[in-house]
Amino acid sequence: MSNQKNDFSKWYIDTIQKADLMDYTPVRGCIAFKPDGYEIWEHIQAEMDRRFKETGHRNAYFPMLIPESFFQKEKDHIEGFSPELPWVTEAAGEKLEERLALRPTSETMIGHLYSDWVKSYRDLPVLINQWANVFRWEKKTLPFIRTSEFLWQEGHTAHADEEEAREETMQMLNIYKEVVEELLAIPVYDGQKTPSERFAGAVDTYSIEAMMKDGKAVQAGTSHYLGTKFAEAFDIKYLTKENRHEFVHTTSWGTSTRLIGSVIMVHGDEQGLVLPPRIAPTQVVLIPVGPWKKNPAIMEKLDEVFAELKARGIRVRLDDSDQSPGFKFNEWELKGVPVRVELGPRDLENNQALMKARDEDEKVAVDLSNVVESIEQELQTMQTRLLEKARAFRAEHSHTHIDDLEGLKKHIADSAEKGEIPGWILAGWCGDDACEENVKEETKFTTRNIPFNPPAEKSTCVNCGKEAKHTVWFARAY
Ligand code: AMP
Ligand code: ZN
Repeated sequence: MSNQKNDFSKWYIDTIQKADLMDYTPVRGCIAFKPDGYEIWEHIQAEMDRRFKETGHRNAYFPMLIPESFFQKEKDHIEGFSPELPWVTEAAGEKLEERLALRPTSETMIGHLYSDWVKSYRDLPVLINQWANVFRWEKKTLPFIRTSEFLWQEGHTAHADEEEAREETMQMLNIYKEVVEELLAIPVYDGQKTPSERFAGAVDTYSIEAMMKDGKAVQAGTSHYLGTKFAEAFDIKYLTKENRHEFVHTTSWGTSTRLIGSVIMVHGDEQGLVLPPRIAPTQVVLIPVGPWKKNPAIMEKLDEVFAELKARGIRVRLDDSDQSPGFKFNEWELKGVPVRVELGPRDLENNQALMKARDEDEKVAVDLSNVVESIEQELQTMQTRLLEKARAFRAEHSHTHIDDLEGLKKHIADSAEKGEIPGWILAGWCGDDACEENVKEETKFTTRNIPFNPPAEKSTCVNCGKEAKHTVWFARAY
């Protein structure tokens, strides 16, 4: 295993490969999701989907191929996405009359259709989500975090007025925050993106941002208020109660398989993957130890525990292969299984089993008579403990007392010298694009978002020293 502290990138690649989550393919930037990697996504999907439906959304599906002319209709949108579009130019041996893009996102196709689906105020709101793959031919790729093809959900809603559309934008950002914190045990800052980081074609973009163990930031989800821009481009109008034709206000929001990468980078340790119980494909592994083959009572007991855990809906594995216990412990740790239970002849005599949580150093002895309850309890405790640990880590690496560019540069240099991660800094910003750009050029720190609930308020711009309009998180980002 490579070292997380000294070479985080190599550690990340080693970890996902040893945990058997993905594989590379001959197509640049396109990965295969292996069953354990895909199942993490399925657990994320299930929870997101439940929350979407609870708030009135329904799933639909739209084509993957989008005519070139659709992109020309919204100027900012095509400007933002054209460098990353892969094209289909021929089919069945013939050149197509119009090139078709592999969708990078579906605002255009959906805008085209909504102009037909929406006629009157009675048709509103339209609350639709799509689960799909999308393509963005990224220059630099990293498994899960930034791939050329990725899996995601994209919500697309249309509303009668701005107020309702803005409420929707915030509601979905909030759902993202809750799911990422509760399910993935990743604390996030919710806030607004600066104009330079806005989605191509959005009026306002909001995001949730998470800190990885190397101190870099990941944009874990985005929610956009699109105003009437796409409605105007695709002529999505409705008849009001007063018999006037008006443009709808639209929103879109997305989260992707990047979340899998974030979980790995937030919770993983020197031993490899650490998975929060709620998304772990295997939550508990039972391992017989000692001279268990000569003692059939061991496997009988483990079979019994296995059956009971299964009956309670816990995802459990029983490893009775002929590898040594040490080998098995290591294997299941690499895979990030939250709880391991060992049972040997001596344990059985003492009516106990040994239980180890993946993120804790010590094994604890648990009473065999209520071992199932103890396991269930530990899964819950571990879920909240991981979130707390990640919060503590984030707090430790968030800096709120750096007020100018020299201070930031010094902080970065000092961190490098001490072999520490520079983390995030909370700083003031006057609102001028040039200041943002200069910080980026000088330090590689970019604006992450303008948090709704910053830990402090800053009064002067970190770059020019003038009065700050916003308090912003700056960090290096994936
Ligand atoms: P967007 O439509 O650009 O707002 O993207 C929605 C979300 O998808 C972002 O917040 C990211 O979390 C994720 N995402 C964007 N690009 C990629 C990519 N190349 N690979 C994986 N996830 C991505
Ligand atoms: Zn400034």
